[in-house]
Amino acid sequence: AGRLLEVSGLTTRFDTPDGLVHAVNGVDFHVDRAEIVGVVGESGCGKSVTIRSILGLVRPPGRVVDGTAMFDGVDLLGLRGAQLRRLRGRQIGFIAQNPFSALNPVLRIHRQFANIMAAHGVRSGGTARDRARTALADVGIAGPDRVLDGYPHQLSGGMAQRVVIAMAMLLDPALVVADEPTTGLDLTVQRQILDLIRGLVQQHGRSMLLVTHDLGVVAQYCDRVVVMYAGKVIEHGAVRDVLNTPRHPYTQALIRAVPRPGQPLVHLTGRLPDLVDYPRGCPFQARCPDAFAPCDHVIPEAATVGGGQTYWCHLSKEPEVVR
Ligand code: SF4
Ligand code: MG
Repeated sequence: AGRLLEVSGLTTRFDTPDGLVHAVNGVDFHVDRAEIVGVVGESGCGKSVTIRSILGLVRPPGRVVDGTAMFDGVDLLGLRGAQLRRLRGRQIGFIAQNPFSALNPVLRIHRQFANIMAAHGVRSGGTARDRARTALADVGIAGPDRVLDGYPHQLSGGMAQRVVIAMAMLLDPALVVADEPTTGLDLTVQRQILDLIRGLVQQHGRSMLLVTHDLGVVAQYCDRVVVMYAGKVIEHGAVRDVLNTPRHPYTQALIRAVPRPGQPLVHLTGRLPDLVDYPRGCPFQARCPDAFAPCDHVIPEAATVGGGQTYWCHLSKEPEVVR
Protein backbone atom coordinates (compact mmCIF):
# COMPACT_ATOMS: atom_id res chain seq x y z
CA ALA A 1 0.00 0.00 0.00
CA GLY A 2 2.42 2.71 1.18
CA ARG A 3 2.09 5.94 3.09
CA LEU A 4 -0.08 8.69 1.68
CA LEU A 5 -0.14 11.09 4.65
CA GLU A 6 2.22 11.22 7.60
CA VAL A 7 1.58 13.79 10.32
CA SER A 8 4.32 14.34 12.91
CA GLY A 9 4.49 16.62 15.93
CA LEU A 10 1.51 18.69 14.82
CA THR A 11 0.98 21.50 17.33
CA THR A 12 -1.69 24.21 17.07
CA ARG A 13 -2.37 27.08 19.47
CA PHE A 14 -5.10 29.69 19.76
CA ASP A 15 -4.33 33.09 21.22
CA THR A 16 -7.36 34.08 23.26
CA PRO A 17 -8.05 36.75 25.88
CA ASP A 18 -7.94 33.95 28.48
CA GLY A 19 -4.50 32.79 27.40
CA LEU A 20 -2.89 30.42 24.93
CA VAL A 21 -5.17 27.45 24.17
CA HIS A 22 -3.22 24.19 23.67
CA ALA A 23 -5.62 22.81 21.06
CA VAL A 24 -3.34 20.27 19.33
CA ASN A 25 -0.28 19.01 21.17
CA GLY A 26 2.28 17.05 19.20
CA VAL A 27 -0.07 14.83 17.20
CA ASP A 28 1.40 11.96 15.14
CA PHE A 29 -0.54 9.63 12.85
CA HIS A 30 -0.54 8.35 9.29
CA VAL A 31 -2.88 7.26 6.52
CA ASP A 32 -1.84 4.55 4.09
CA ARG A 33 -3.08 4.26 0.53
CA ALA A 34 -6.56 2.78 0.15
CA GLU A 35 -7.16 2.95 3.88
CA ILE A 36 -9.94 4.54 5.94
CA VAL A 37 -8.68 6.01 9.21
CA GLY A 38 -11.10 7.26 11.86
CA VAL A 39 -10.24 10.08 14.26
CA VAL A 40 -12.42 9.76 17.34
CA GLY A 41 -12.90 11.54 20.67
CA GLU A 42 -15.36 13.75 22.53
CA SER A 43 -16.21 17.18 21.20
CA GLY A 44 -13.46 19.62 22.09
CA CYS A 45 -10.70 16.98 21.96
CA GLY A 46 -9.00 18.60 18.97
CA LYS A 47 -10.21 16.36 16.12
CA SER A 48 -11.46 19.15 13.88
CA VAL A 49 -8.58 21.49 14.64
CA THR A 50 -6.17 18.67 13.77
CA ILE A 51 -7.58 18.15 10.30
CA ARG A 52 -8.10 21.86 9.72
CA SER A 53 -4.45 22.39 10.63
CA ILE A 54 -3.37 19.83 8.04
CA LEU A 55 -5.57 21.41 5.38
CA GLY A 56 -4.38 24.96 6.09
CA LEU A 57 -7.84 25.99 7.30
CA VAL A 58 -6.89 27.31 10.76
CA ARG A 59 -7.41 31.05 10.88
CA PRO A 60 -6.09 33.61 13.38
CA PRO A 61 -6.15 33.70 16.37
CA GLY A 62 -5.25 30.06 15.70
CA ARG A 63 -1.89 29.04 14.25
CA VAL A 64 0.05 25.88 13.58
CA VAL A 65 3.28 26.33 15.54
CA ASP A 66 5.07 23.04 14.91
CA GLY A 67 5.04 19.76 13.02
CA THR A 68 4.97 18.34 9.52
CA ALA A 69 2.23 16.78 7.39
CA MET A 70 3.88 14.90 4.53
CA PHE A 71 1.39 14.20 1.76
CA ASP A 72 2.76 12.27 -1.18
CA GLY A 73 6.23 13.71 -0.52
CA VAL A 74 5.13 17.33 0.11
CA ASP A 75 4.88 18.99 3.53
CA LEU A 76 1.40 20.51 3.57
CA LEU A 77 2.36 22.73 6.51
CA GLY A 78 5.10 24.33 4.43
CA LEU A 79 2.83 25.32 1.52
CA ARG A 80 1.66 28.87 0.87
CA GLY A 81 -2.04 29.64 0.47
CA ALA A 82 -2.31 29.33 -3.31
CA GLN A 83 -0.26 26.10 -3.47
CA LEU A 84 -2.35 24.60 -0.72
CA ARG A 85 -5.62 25.58 -2.36
CA ARG A 86 -4.46 23.91 -5.55
CA LEU A 87 -3.70 20.70 -3.69
CA ARG A 88 -6.93 20.86 -1.74
CA GLY A 89 -9.68 20.02 -4.15
CA ARG A 90 -7.40 18.36 -6.65
CA GLN A 91 -5.55 15.84 -4.50
CA ILE A 92 -7.40 16.20 -1.21
CA GLY A 93 -11.19 16.43 -1.12
CA PHE A 94 -12.69 17.99 2.02
CA ILE A 95 -16.20 17.28 3.26
CA ALA A 96 -17.10 19.71 6.04
CA GLN A 97 -19.48 19.12 8.91
CA ASN A 98 -22.01 21.64 7.66
CA PRO A 99 -22.55 21.35 3.90
CA PHE A 100 -24.13 24.80 3.71
CA SER A 101 -20.92 26.38 5.00
CA ALA A 102 -19.11 24.76 2.06
CA LEU A 103 -21.54 26.10 -0.54
CA ASN A 104 -21.83 29.68 -1.75
CA PRO A 105 -25.41 30.75 -0.93
CA VAL A 106 -25.70 33.24 -3.79
CA LEU A 107 -24.47 31.08 -6.68
CA ARG A 108 -26.40 28.44 -8.55
CA ILE A 109 -24.96 24.96 -8.03
CA HIS A 110 -23.83 24.55 -11.65
CA ARG A 111 -21.81 27.77 -11.35
CA GLN A 112 -20.06 26.41 -8.24
CA PHE A 113 -19.05 23.23 -10.08
CA ALA A 114 -17.80 25.34 -12.99
CA ASN A 115 -15.78 27.51 -10.60
CA ILE A 116 -14.04 24.49 -9.08
CA MET A 117 -13.06 23.24 -12.54
CA ALA A 118 -11.91 26.71 -13.60
CA ALA A 119 -9.90 27.24 -10.40
CA HIS A 120 -8.01 24.03 -11.07
CA GLY A 121 -7.66 24.61 -14.80
CA VAL A 122 -9.51 21.44 -15.59
CA ARG A 123 -10.72 20.92 -19.12
CA SER A 124 -13.17 18.11 -19.43
CA GLY A 125 -14.09 16.21 -22.57
CA GLY A 126 -17.63 17.52 -22.57
CA THR A 127 -18.86 20.75 -21.05
CA ALA A 128 -18.44 21.64 -17.39
CA ARG A 129 -22.16 21.05 -17.05
CA ASP A 130 -21.89 17.49 -18.36
CA ARG A 131 -19.17 16.82 -15.87
CA ALA A 132 -21.20 18.25 -12.98
CA ARG A 133 -24.19 16.17 -14.09
CA THR A 134 -22.08 13.01 -13.98
CA ALA A 135 -20.67 13.95 -10.56
CA LEU A 136 -24.18 14.38 -9.17
CA ALA A 137 -25.32 11.09 -10.71
CA ASP A 138 -22.36 9.41 -8.96
CA VAL A 139 -23.67 10.57 -5.59
CA GLY A 140 -27.12 9.20 -6.35
CA ILE A 141 -28.90 12.40 -7.33
CA ALA A 142 -31.57 11.57 -9.88
CA GLY A 143 -32.59 14.55 -12.01
CA PRO A 144 -29.33 16.49 -11.53
CA ASP A 145 -30.45 19.39 -13.74
CA ARG A 146 -32.99 20.59 -11.22
CA VAL A 147 -30.26 20.64 -8.55
CA LEU A 148 -27.72 22.30 -10.86
CA ASP A 149 -30.08 25.15 -11.70
CA GLY A 150 -31.01 25.78 -8.08
CA TYR A 151 -29.43 27.49 -5.09
CA PRO A 152 -28.09 25.79 -1.95
CA HIS A 153 -30.99 26.92 0.27
CA GLN A 154 -33.39 24.92 -1.92
CA LEU A 155 -31.67 21.68 -0.88
CA SER A 156 -32.35 19.50 2.15
CA GLY A 157 -29.39 18.84 4.46
CA GLY A 158 -28.89 15.37 2.99
CA MET A 159 -29.04 16.67 -0.59
CA ALA A 160 -26.66 19.52 0.19
CA GLN A 161 -24.17 17.05 1.68
CA ARG A 162 -24.44 14.90 -1.46
CA VAL A 163 -23.63 17.96 -3.56
CA VAL A 164 -20.62 18.74 -1.36
CA ILE A 165 -19.46 15.12 -1.67
CA ALA A 166 -19.79 15.35 -5.45
CA MET A 167 -17.65 18.51 -5.39
CA ALA A 168 -15.07 16.88 -3.11
CA MET A 169 -14.76 13.90 -5.48
CA LEU A 170 -14.94 15.95 -8.69
CA LEU A 171 -11.20 16.16 -9.37
CA ASP A 172 -10.44 12.58 -8.31
CA PRO A 173 -8.55 13.22 -5.04
CA ALA A 174 -6.23 10.58 -3.56
CA LEU A 175 -7.32 11.52 -0.04
CA VAL A 176 -10.78 12.41 1.21
CA VAL A 177 -11.04 14.21 4.56
CA ALA A 178 -14.49 14.24 6.17
CA ASP A 179 -15.27 16.08 9.42
CA GLU A 180 -18.37 14.54 11.04
CA PRO A 181 -20.05 14.62 7.62
CA THR A 182 -23.45 13.47 8.86
CA THR A 183 -24.00 15.77 11.83
CA GLY A 184 -27.59 16.97 12.03
CA LEU A 185 -28.96 14.42 9.54
CA ASP A 186 -31.43 11.78 10.58
CA LEU A 187 -30.09 8.28 11.23
CA THR A 188 -31.23 6.70 7.97
CA VAL A 189 -29.73 9.52 5.90
CA GLN A 190 -26.52 9.36 7.97
CA ARG A 191 -25.96 5.74 7.00
CA GLN A 192 -26.81 6.42 3.35
CA ILE A 193 -24.29 9.26 3.24
CA LEU A 194 -21.56 7.25 4.95
CA ASP A 195 -22.21 4.25 2.66
CA LEU A 196 -22.03 6.60 -0.30
CA ILE A 197 -18.73 8.20 0.78
CA ARG A 198 -17.17 4.82 1.55
CA GLY A 199 -18.29 3.48 -1.83
CA LEU A 200 -16.70 6.40 -3.69
CA VAL A 201 -13.50 6.06 -1.65
CA GLN A 202 -13.12 2.30 -2.09
CA GLN A 203 -14.21 2.16 -5.70
CA HIS A 204 -11.39 4.50 -6.72
CA GLY A 205 -8.71 3.18 -4.34
CA ARG A 206 -8.74 6.44 -2.39
CA SER A 207 -7.85 6.94 1.25
CA MET A 208 -10.01 8.66 3.83
CA LEU A 209 -9.58 10.42 7.12
CA LEU A 210 -12.97 10.33 8.84
CA VAL A 211 -13.54 12.45 11.94
CA THR A 212 -16.37 11.26 14.17
CA HIS A 213 -17.42 11.10 17.81
CA ASP A 214 -19.32 7.87 17.08
CA LEU A 215 -17.55 4.58 17.79
CA GLY A 216 -20.30 2.75 15.88
CA VAL A 217 -19.24 4.65 12.76
CA VAL A 218 -15.61 3.74 13.43
CA ALA A 219 -16.53 0.06 13.84
CA GLN A 220 -18.53 -0.01 10.64
CA TYR A 221 -16.51 2.19 8.30
CA CYS A 222 -12.85 2.40 9.37
CA ASP A 223 -9.77 0.19 9.03
CA ARG A 224 -7.72 1.97 11.68
CA VAL A 225 -8.60 4.43 14.41
CA VAL A 226 -6.81 7.29 16.15
CA VAL A 227 -8.24 8.18 19.58
CA MET A 228 -7.70 11.78 20.70
CA TYR A 229 -7.96 13.38 24.11
CA ALA A 230 -7.17 16.99 25.04
CA GLY A 231 -5.41 17.59 21.75
CA LYS A 232 -3.24 14.47 21.92
CA VAL A 233 -3.37 11.02 20.39
CA ILE A 234 -3.74 8.65 23.35
CA GLU A 235 -4.22 5.39 21.44
CA HIS A 236 -4.25 4.17 17.85
CA GLY A 237 -4.37 0.88 15.99
CA ALA A 238 -6.47 -1.44 13.86
CA VAL A 239 -10.16 -0.92 14.60
CA ARG A 240 -10.70 -4.52 15.72
CA ASP A 241 -7.78 -4.31 18.18
CA VAL A 242 -8.66 -0.94 19.67
CA LEU A 243 -12.39 -1.65 19.97
CA ASN A 244 -12.06 -5.25 21.20
CA THR A 245 -9.12 -4.74 23.55
CA PRO A 246 -8.77 -1.04 24.31
CA ARG A 247 -5.61 -0.37 26.32
CA HIS A 248 -5.96 3.25 27.34
CA PRO A 249 -8.38 3.99 30.22
CA TYR A 250 -9.94 6.79 28.14
CA THR A 251 -10.61 4.47 25.18
CA GLN A 252 -12.07 1.96 27.65
CA ALA A 253 -14.36 4.65 29.08
CA LEU A 254 -15.45 5.77 25.60
CA ILE A 255 -16.39 2.21 24.68
CA ARG A 256 -18.29 1.67 27.94
CA ALA A 257 -20.24 4.85 27.18
CA VAL A 258 -21.63 3.39 23.92
CA PRO A 259 -25.22 2.27 24.47
CA ARG A 260 -25.64 -1.51 24.11
CA PRO A 261 -28.87 -3.46 24.40
CA GLY A 262 -29.16 -5.21 27.76
CA GLN A 263 -26.15 -3.50 29.30
CA PRO A 264 -26.07 -0.60 31.73
CA LEU A 265 -24.81 2.64 30.26
CA VAL A 266 -21.68 3.96 31.90
CA HIS A 267 -21.43 7.68 31.28
CA LEU A 268 -18.16 9.44 30.91
CA THR A 269 -17.88 11.70 33.93
CA GLY A 270 -15.83 14.81 34.45
CA ARG A 271 -14.63 17.32 31.92
CA LEU A 272 -11.80 17.84 29.53
CA PRO A 273 -8.84 19.54 31.20
CA ASP A 274 -8.27 23.26 30.90
CA LEU A 275 -6.45 23.68 27.60
CA VAL A 276 -5.00 27.03 28.70
CA ASP A 277 -3.55 25.72 31.94
CA TYR A 278 -2.62 22.41 30.31
CA PRO A 279 -1.94 19.63 32.84
CA ARG A 280 1.54 18.29 33.42
CA GLY A 281 1.80 14.53 33.09
CA CYS A 282 -1.09 12.57 31.58
CA PRO A 283 -3.90 14.73 30.16
CA PHE A 284 -6.52 12.18 31.33
CA GLN A 285 -5.40 12.17 35.01
CA ALA A 286 -8.36 14.17 36.42
CA ARG A 287 -10.93 11.69 35.04
CA CYS A 288 -8.95 8.48 35.13
CA PRO A 289 -10.14 5.75 37.52
CA ASP A 290 -6.66 4.19 37.38
CA ALA A 291 -4.49 7.26 38.01
CA PHE A 292 -1.51 6.61 40.26
CA ALA A 293 1.73 8.19 41.39
CA PRO A 294 3.47 9.28 38.18
CA CYS A 295 0.34 10.37 36.31
CA ASP A 296 0.15 13.98 37.55
CA HIS A 297 3.69 14.94 36.60
CA VAL A 298 5.19 12.47 34.09
CA ILE A 299 4.00 12.32 30.46
CA PRO A 300 3.40 8.66 29.53
CA GLU A 301 5.54 7.13 26.80
CA ALA A 302 4.21 5.10 23.88
CA ALA A 303 3.71 1.37 24.36
CA THR A 304 2.99 -0.88 21.38
CA VAL A 305 1.30 -4.27 21.58
CA GLY A 306 0.31 -6.93 19.04
CA GLY A 307 0.05 -5.72 15.49
CA GLY A 308 0.91 -2.09 16.10
CA GLN A 309 -1.74 -1.03 18.64
CA THR A 310 -0.09 1.88 20.45
CA TYR A 311 -1.17 3.74 23.58
CA TRP A 312 0.20 6.31 25.98
CA CYS A 313 -0.44 5.30 29.62
CA HIS A 314 1.81 4.63 32.62
CA LEU A 315 -0.07 1.39 33.29
CA SER A 316 1.89 -0.13 30.40
CA LYS A 317 4.92 0.04 32.69
CA GLU A 318 3.14 -0.88 35.93
CA PRO A 319 1.23 -4.09 35.28
CA GLU A 320 1.30 -4.95 39.01
CA VAL A 321 -0.23 -1.72 40.21
CA VAL A 322 -3.11 -2.23 42.65
CA ARG A 323 -6.23 -0.39 41.51
FE1 SF4 B 1 -4.78 7.04 33.79
FE2 SF4 B 1 -2.27 7.44 34.50
FE3 SF4 B 1 -2.79 5.99 32.36
FE4 SF4 B 1 -3.18 8.63 32.36
S1 SF4 B 1 -1.23 7.56 32.55
S2 SF4 B 1 -4.57 7.11 31.54
S3 SF4 B 1 -3.90 8.99 34.43
S4 SF4 B 1 -3.32 5.49 34.49
MG1 MG C 1 -15.56 19.08 15.46
